[in-house]
Amino acid sequence: MSRIRAALLREPEQELEIEEVDLGDLEPDEIRVRVHSSGVCHTDLSGIAGVVPLPYPAVLGHEGAGTVVEVGDAVVDLAVGDRVAVSFASCGECEPCMSAHPAYCEIFAALNYFGTRLDGSTTMCQGELEVHGNFFGQSSFATELITAARNAVALPDDFPLELAGPLGCGLLTGAGTVRNVLQLTERDSVAVFGIGTVGLASVMAAAVAGCRTIIAVDLSADRLELARELGATHVVDASVSDDVVWDVMAVEPAGVDAAIDAVGLEVVIQQGLECLAVRGTLATLGLQGLENPVTVNQGHILLGRTITGVIEGDAQPRELIPVMIDWWRQGRFPIERLVEVFPFDALQEALAATASGRVIKPVVEMP
Ligand SMILES: [Zn+2]
Ligand SMILES: [Zn+2]
Repeated sequence: MSRIRAALLREPEQELEIEEVDLGDLEPDEIRVRVHSSGVCHTDLSGIAGVVPLPYPAVLGHEGAGTVVEVGDAVVDLAVGDRVAVSFASCGECEPCMSAHPAYCEIFAALNYFGTRLDGSTTMCQGELEVHGNFFGQSSFATELITAARNAVALPDDFPLELAGPLGCGLLTGAGTVRNVLQLTERDSVAVFGIGTVGLASVMAAAVAGCRTIIAVDLSADRLELARELGATHVVDASVSDDVVWDVMAVEPAGVDAAIDAVGLEVVIQQGLECLAVRGTLATLGLQGLENPVTVNQGHILLGRTITGVIEGDAQPRELIPVMIDWWRQGRFPIERLVEVFPFDALQEALAATASGRVIKPVVEMP
């Protein structure tokens, strides 16, 4: 048992309070990580808003990075002192996990949202009170966390820890969608709707893939400028456009081969579908709640068009995170352009910066 500090959500729509908490003992397959820093993601805001039902009190945060300080008896692939990024949890034993699709783990919800281990025990407590860690298998808004070793990815010594957390969720989602799901190449054109972390990771990965046309669509001129610097060949400012689909088609008259929706709103999903070429694919990634009905024109998708949802880029963290680090080394994935670091005590400010969109990827650094 160790005494840590963690940000507690006592009930939905409340501020997170940083309090002293006890972290329990390890199960054989788990590791204890001293958290260096954690990214802040829109899914944390969804957790606070109660969009994802959680048991309370809960500790959010799911883009943790830090140093391994203890390993369970059965852990063979990580050791004390290893620097790691912690990604989403998967079981490793079901059919999707065994066939390289851990984001579609059959027990994903139980492992990532229920706030306990599968046996019902919690990793954190305050005296008699059970504190629900285990958010995305980690709960990284804390000075230390417990996670299953399989959720952690070892990092090379030269990679900055304050950039590492977002590799486990937001960046993984965008890069994995381009690389694993859409499998874009230099022959392809792509339109990316919503230029936050996921959208920018999509733009950068499409640039790495050599896509001949990369069109960024957003409401913010600043974000579109950044997208251009990071690889977009064209931009569409939806805040001034009379017709976003028309503007995308002005660049690619036959439509784009792929569209990525990093927003999740019906209007954006419809625009993404409408600007597709025949046989094109729309990948929809934005989370707007578990009930989000969308009307699509069946006549339009009859022409070989596909709409698919994607979780976590359909990625295997231990495969894709090292790839993204290689891209970063080559200067093609400059994560530091997205990140602003806040002290842990300013977590509330970092959450507000995520909500307002002032900062693309706030990262909180533990003391
Ligand atoms: Zn599984
Ligand atoms: Zn996330």
